[in-house]
Amino acid sequence: MIQVKKNQRMTKQKATIREILRSVENHPTAEWIYQEARKRIPGISLGTVYRNLNQLRDNGEILELNYGSTQSRFDGRNDNHYHFCCTYCGNVYDLPMPTIKSVETKAKAASGFLITGHRLEYYGLCKECQAIDEVS
Ligand code: ZN
Ligand code: MN
Repeated sequence: MIQVKKNQRMTKQKATIREILRSVENHPTAEWIYQEARKRIPGISLGTVYRNLNQLRDNGEILELNYGSTQSRFDGRNDNHYHFCCTYCGNVYDLPMPTIKSVETKAKAASGFLITGHRLEYYGLCKECQAIDEVS
């Protein structure tokens, strides 16, 4: 009985975390998700948030975006899509453009590898940061 209760609580936590992620477009960090989750589930731990994020990622329900030195960000969308990272403010935006299938066929032709996917990231200044740049 205790096990069942524990699993139900886990499921509620996971559902809440997924719901938070799906409701935002800012590709938040685990820390940000944790602060939001605490408002809905007081007493939830950062470790629990990390564990659930990892499970959701492993199940393919969310994406983990890892940009080298910075903290991972999480994405409630699980379809392949492209991102733009602002090198000034650090925000990550979805790019409203279709994915380019030809990069996979070209990579296959060039390497002979079995290509199962690709990731493409753009870098530069977002609109707000371009405005700052013009003022200063
Ligand atoms: Zn920016
Ligand atoms: Mn995204």
